[in-house]
Amino acid sequence: MADQVRVRYAPSPTGEPHVGNMRTALFTWLFARNMGGIFILRIEDTDQSRKVEGVIEQFLDALRWLGMDWDEGPEVGGDHGPYIQSQRLAGYHQAADELLEAGEAYRCYCTIERLAEMRQEQNRLNRQTGYDRRCRHLSSQERRGREAERGEWVVRFAMPLEGTTRVTDLIRGEVSFENRLIDDFVILKSDGFPTYHLAVVVDDHKMEISHVLRAEEWLPSTPRHLLICRALGWEPPKFAHLPMILAPDRSKLSKRHGATSVLEYRQMGYLPNAMVNFLALMGWSLDDKTDLFSTGDLVRHFSIERVGRSGAVFNLDKLNWLNGHYTRQLTPEELTDRLLDYWRRYLPEEVPALPDGAYLLRIVPLIHERLKTLKDAAPLVAFFFKQEAQYESQELVQKGMDAEGTRLALSGALESLSGVKAFDADAIEAVLRPLAEDLGVKVGQLFGSLRIATTGLRVSPPLFETLEVLGKERSLAAVRDALARL
Ligand code: GLU
Repeated sequence: MADQVRVRYAPSPTGEPHVGNMRTALFTWLFARNMGGIFILRIEDTDQSRKVEGVIEQFLDALRWLGMDWDEGPEVGGDHGPYIQSQRLAGYHQAADELLEAGEAYRCYCTIERLAEMRQEQNRLNRQTGYDRRCRHLSSQERRGREAERGEWVVRFAMPLEGTTRVTDLIRGEVSFENRLIDDFVILKSDGFPTYHLAVVVDDHKMEISHVLRAEEWLPSTPRHLLICRALGWEPPKFAHLPMILAPDRSKLSKRHGATSVLEYRQMGYLPNAMVNFLALMGWSLDDKTDLFSTGDLVRHFSIERVGRSGAVFNLDKLNWLNGHYTRQLTPEELTDRLLDYWRRYLPEEVPALPDGAYLLRIVPLIHERLKTLKDAAPLVAFFFKQEAQYESQELVQKGMDAEGTRLALSGALESLSGVKAFDADAIEAVLRPLAEDLGVKVGQLFGSLRIATTGLRVSPPLFETLEVLGKERSLAAVRDALARL
């Protein structure tokens, strides 16, 4: 059991699940699945002041959407629970007490005002900022005095004053940090909640985490975590810090580059497997040339060794390309199901109610090739689900035609279509093409008027197939209605 891979994804519910969060989740999940390990979900909600309501559910929803199942965590339970840090306070207090007792930590009684003054002074003198360790060397008598006077304190870790702490990172190799540059950071706050640094170390230990995969921004915290582990006599996990995600211009990725919640991509009609493939390529590659990976392929091939060190660029064109690819790959049945799922969640304005699956399945082949995202479907197909086509009467009159000519053309079409027995696309085409010639109008003019009359769209799915799906009765009624309007 000791060699079992146990990894965790540990989101803080302080903001929406963005692309960077989900990339960390995915790499951690892929590593677990590739190694036959355990993937744990842990909610890091110890910063109660930054907690945003409803965000935990969004994280779970995003993981589920992308197909990342967790073996231990909220909802599924496990032997190392609870999996929400605010429910694990006793363990943090116990660790803090042990550190206090061993002299590896100390109570600090400095007020916020004092700390602010200290910082100001350090800035004025251009000194290194950080806690000046005033409470580190108090005598026990002084401590008793302060405690009686203030009644509250924080617990700080007593950093070694010299030496270096070496982090061996599976991606970045050895990185050294000078201890004297790290101040005596807080591990337990006055409200009794731990800081991230203490909570993460205690939980990674108690949950028997073997590897920590997390974003590069956490690398400077890692020496702190290693030192806490050492002070408690614990074996630290192995670390792998994932490269930053950068905007296409290599600046910091922000909202204006589309770095919104991954759930917004779901709403924009992206497919989860396209998103997974896209996220996987942000920092990992198999051979620098293969782009398309199913989730199964990723599980098979993923390894930390193939994660790069340099920043990964977020490229929306790539996501669009992948999404187009995976959309085209769907069978009509799959696309129908995807659309129904999508509309069930986000019913588009144009579509009056969730359509019948069998009917939608007949429509889907007419638009499949044109979809870049699921969102593109509704405007193209909404007319199928409405009683009548919606348009302005003058739209019936095509370029180079007048109302009278249009009326003649549509009456001709009405007559020809009435005579079609098996109302399918081929039979419809076979009567309409010669009709244009008989009437002395261009096919584009005839078809344009018919298209408006039956769909209300200037650009619609292919006309003959559309008429076939609408059926004879509805098609004829639409042409009659158009004639009445002219
Ligand atoms: N709770 C941290 C976050 O939201 C996780 C850091 C870690 O994985 O240690 O990013």
